[in-house]
Amino acid sequence: MYDVIVVGAGYGGVTCAGLLTKYGYKVALVDKNPKAGGKAMSVSKKGFVYEMWPILGGPSVPSRFHELVDILQLHDDVDLLTSSETSEEFRYIKSDGRVVTSPFPTQGSYGDSNEMNRVLSEAGISLAEAGNLLKLMAAILSTTPEQLEGLEHVSVFEWVRSFEIGSVLESYQFSLCNLLFVVALDKLPAAEAIRTLRDFYQGGAGRYHRKGYGYVAQAVVGYIQNHGGTWLPKTKVDQILVEDDSAVGIKAGGKVYKGKTVVSNAGLQPTVLKLLEPYSSTALPPDYLEWVKRLEPSWAFVGVRYFVDAPVFDKASIIQFSDESWWDTERFESARNGSWPDQPLLFIVVPCLYDPLLSPDPSHQVILAGTMCSPDPSSPMNQAAVGKVEKVMEKYWPDLRWHTTKKEAFTSQNISAQSRASVVFGQGGECIGLGQVIGQCGPDKPNPKSPLSRLWFVGCDAGGYGCGTHQAVESGFQVAEMVAKELG
Ligand SMILES: Cc1cc2nc3c(=O)[nH]c(=O)nc-3n(C[C@H](O)[C@H](O)[C@H](O)COP(=O)(O)OP(=O)(O)OC[C@H]3O[C@@H](n4cnc5c(N)ncnc54)[C@H](O)[C@@H]3O)c2cc1C
Repeated sequence: MYDVIVVGAGYGGVTCAGLLTKYGYKVALVDKNPKAGGKAMSVSKKGFVYEMWPILGGPSVPSRFHELVDILQLHDDVDLLTSSETSEEFRYIKSDGRVVTSPFPTQGSYGDSNEMNRVLSEAGISLAEAGNLLKLMAAILSTTPEQLEGLEHVSVFEWVRSFEIGSVLESYQFSLCNLLFVVALDKLPAAEAIRTLRDFYQGGAGRYHRKGYGYVAQAVVGYIQNHGGTWLPKTKVDQILVEDDSAVGIKAGGKVYKGKTVVSNAGLQPTVLKLLEPYSSTALPPDYLEWVKRLEPSWAFVGVRYFVDAPVFDKASIIQFSDESWWDTERFESARNGSWPDQPLLFIVVPCLYDPLLSPDPSHQVILAGTMCSPDPSSPMNQAAVGKVEKVMEKYWPDLRWHTTKKEAFTSQNISAQSRASVVFGQGGECIGLGQVIGQCGPDKPNPKSPLSRLWFVGCDAGGYGCGTHQAVESGFQVAEMVAKELG
């Protein structure tokens, strides 16, 4: 009998399991994958260590990751690399094809004024537009909780437009919001963007982890094992067991594991519509089930992994965008119908440029490059997106043609296989989890407490805010507190 069984070792699941272990509970952490980390899992192949797709954390510092490492005392094993130690770049492609580059902001710094002037002049940004951007940034830093409340149902699209920052800076802000939240800009609440961007402005934009981005999850698993907890990898949970409207354990691979409380990191929709069957249809109110089915996933991020035998890249992370890269609902639908922008939003991460030990040879690299796509694992948009990424990558980095020793596509089907089951039409391959769209975040975020007693949701679907993995860890903190309170 465990105190808590956590289903899923994504960053939400491991954080919750690690903290509950620290609080003294007997915890079992179960995952279908061989390693912890979920969508942000690090893998090893032919001497390389990398994630399956581009992953970079934000804010750099302070972050919930730092708090987790502090509380579990993982400093000897874990090193969180902040943006001031690394080299990252924005690339704006102008309509005439010229490229304007600018480094990522580091903690508390937006570069020197000479650098700023160069970017303004090369990109064609007027001083009035730059001034309006400063007003937008000031608004992000100074919005009060009451003002935020009023922006929960205003889209970031509408809010940013009201500052009149001009098309270049709009493309920058919009592409950044697409990248951080992976939803349509006309659906993303301004309040959610402000909460998250404020953390980025204060703490810097990029964080990677030595030994791989997913290594922190593995370190937390080590902590759990060293403190009396149980880690069950390669164990797919088939069912959450319910008695008298209360979760009492799980069934996995024909075995039953009993627990006083079950916390699911397998996604709210897969948990309710799959793992709780057959109880959900009898024990849960029909309107709750309908609400769960209607919840909207974030989009996917799909693309290509390149293995190269030369140092093709010298920047560890790149965000490349143009005026046509950002997507609202209309632009997304247009791409879904086959009309793709020539310059899609491109996000590239080269893990070994953060930690050289992630490559077997200093000159060899794994390059992860992706763009936005439908979360539907069976959507033909996947192939179109992969093709588009390949074309743009080879246009801007022609050396890829000569130095690529292996190339692998990743699609929303792969994301679903590594994280959550597809249980509702069009869902499964979502990049983040449930979309941070109006009506699904802030005060409207699904509650981590399920309608069944002793069953909780953790991860990006419940509780937290912020960008991807940071949101998952934030949710892990919240849910660990709530579960501990319930268990006493
Ligand atoms: C292509 C791509 C790029 C991304 N880029 C970034 C980025 O740059 N920065 C960032 O912060 N975030 C990024 N993200 C998002 C980030 O990875 C996720 O938001 C975050 O990792 C989700 O964590 P989670 O805890 O909610 O769940 P997940 O990571 O989805 O973990 C869920 C876990 O549950 C397990 N599970 C599911 N069902 C079962 C079952 N039946 N039995 C046992 N185990 C089960 C899965 O195996 C998985 O390990 C990216 C995601 C993708 C796909």
